[in-house]
Amino acid sequence: MKKQHRFSIWYALLGIWMVFLLHNMIASAMAIKSIPYSEFVKQVEAGQVVEIAVSENVIQGRMASPDDDGKPGELFRTVRVDPEISNLLAAHDITYSGRIESNFLGTLLSWIIPVALFVGVWLFLMRRFQQQSGFMTLGKNKAKIYMDEEVGVRFGDAAGVDEAKQELEEVIAFLKEPQRYTRMGGQIPRGILLVGPPGTGKTLLAKAVAGESEVPFFSLSGSEFVEMFVGLGAARVRDLFKQAKEKAPCIIFIDELDALGKARGVAIGGGHDEREQTLNQLLVELDGFDPNVGVILMAATNRPEILDPALLRPGRFDRQVLVDRPDKVGRADILKIYLDKIEAESDVDPERIAGMTAGMVGADLANIVNEAALLAVRRKKARTGMAEITEAVERVVAGLEKRNRLINPMEKKIVAHHELGHAIVAMALPGADPVQKISIIPRGIAALGYTMQVPTEDRFLMRRTELNHRIATLLGGRAAEALIFKDISTGAHNDLSRATDMARSMVCEYGMSDRLGQVYFAPKRQARFLGQEAGAVGEYSEETARTIDEEVRRIIDTQYAVACRILEENKDLLQRTARQLLQDEVIEGKALESIAVAVRSQSAQSPTSATAEAAAEMAA
Ligand code: ADP
Repeated sequence: MKKQHRFSIWYALLGIWMVFLLHNMIASAMAIKSIPYSEFVKQVEAGQVVEIAVSENVIQGRMASPDDDGKPGELFRTVRVDPEISNLLAAHDITYSGRIESNFLGTLLSWIIPVALFVGVWLFLMRRFQQQSGFMTLGKNKAKIYMDEEVGVRFGDAAGVDEAKQELEEVIAFLKEPQRYTRMGGQIPRGILLVGPPGTGKTLLAKAVAGESEVPFFSLSGSEFVEMFVGLGAARVRDLFKQAKEKAPCIIFIDELDALGKARGVAIGGGHDEREQTLNQLLVELDGFDPNVGVILMAATNRPEILDPALLRPGRFDRQVLVDRPDKVGRADILKIYLDKIEAESDVDPERIAGMTAGMVGADLANIVNEAALLAVRRKKARTGMAEITEAVERVVAGLEKRNRLINPMEKKIVAHHELGHAIVAMALPGADPVQKISIIPRGIAALGYTMQVPTEDRFLMRRTELNHRIATLLGGRAAEALIFKDISTGAHNDLSRATDMARSMVCEYGMSDRLGQVYFAPKRQARFLGQEAGAVGEYSEETARTIDEEVRRIIDTQYAVACRILEENKDLLQRTARQLLQDEVIEGKALESIAVAVRSQSAQSPTSATAEAAAEMAA
């Protein structure tokens, strides 16, 4: 309807323009009298023609004024005739005139084609512009809303998130039989916020809720609401809810809610009107819709702390479901789902892989299994084995192996000692994660070598000694370089940054510095422009800031000294093993075991050593 309407306006404009042109042509044609050439010759002879203009085929001119009153005479036009014939014809007193063969079609085309082309290009551009900006169809959701009538995902497709699943069961029950709840006068939550790190399966769970309850699933990302034109986002929200109500019962899922729902008034460099308006509209819709209609709003975010508090008020996103990183059992369950989908060897043990992948989320695990399967294909194996899985884990953790990268022998030597430095310190300190592999094959963009430590179990708490040991392990690389080469390299850059972060957290966040005591010092952030919270962060004196720096420095220095002492005690072992590592490039399994045994017996021999001190500290 709307389209047709727009079109008729263009046609009308075109019509008016053409009539105007035609009128001009006719008017000018009518003002000039056409006369035969013989008449023209006679008038010239009679002295009646005052002026003429001659062109190739036509002569135009003006007759003398008939009454001699100074008024301009009649205009005329005549078609030129061959002068020789005209003499002959004049001699015989014949009336004659010239004619131009006019090609009607040609004239028409020479007019119509440019006009049609012009109009066509114009329409095309207008249409493109509308498509890109939604300028004419303000806020209509076009194809952007993505609705699945039939979601194929079920709860069985997500694992390791049992608590979240339990919370969502109720929603499914409601969507399946809304009447049962409404009859009892029960209120179902309007908005459910899934909170958790990226890749833990929030989208997957939202889809599974839709799939289990067999309702349509509308999904949109928070960032898609923030449009080029102010007001469009709000219109989009309105349209989304309208469409959803028509399809109720259904689920609306907004991914990255934080892109849209950031606290108002804290934007950098003044406000962001568009986002604010969109957020307001969302709040209005949330308040306005009756949950008993059967529209359930779900949203996901990994930064709930930056959401506008208004979004979390009762009656809005009043139920928050935590979708956390899976624990070891959860990881094994997720792995089972994905291993079932590929052809896996019988030695592939989900529990063992789960042990190697502490801290990873569902998306990482899915990725690992996929990588492993691809590796198996590349190696022309019929089934994916544990070797491929281990390699895929390393690939995800440390990046791709770059065996071909040329490294000069001196650098290789430094890398070998550096990595062994980490490994030996880790082996000497009680309670550190066991070393699984030492490699000096370059990986990824920057890593020249790496030491893989695998935690034996998931950890939720860390003691001060453990953190200290971690820092010492990180500094072990630099300590080994200094010990062996009496010089240090840039290779420790990442280690230093991690160690410093850890030490700073110990001082500022965990209250682990005796000098500063059990106080939490929020990290200093950039003050925001005109923001509400400016000044509220990092509120401590310059003096405290200096003490924090000193404490961080003290922790790092102490642990560096620990690492240095351990390596000095094991200098022979370090040098011997480095030669072996340079030759084999990788040390793992039995060879690694024997190094660990040597390190431990060394620390048993010298009871005054750093290791013994550390062991005593752990015991205390
Ligand atoms: P999020 O929305 O939390 O960032 P997604 O739901 O988009 O994460 O997860 C990305 C992919 O990772 C999913 O499509 C799925 O293949 C996999 N995945 C993530 N978590 C799980 C899980 N708990 N169980 C099974 N697969 C998962």
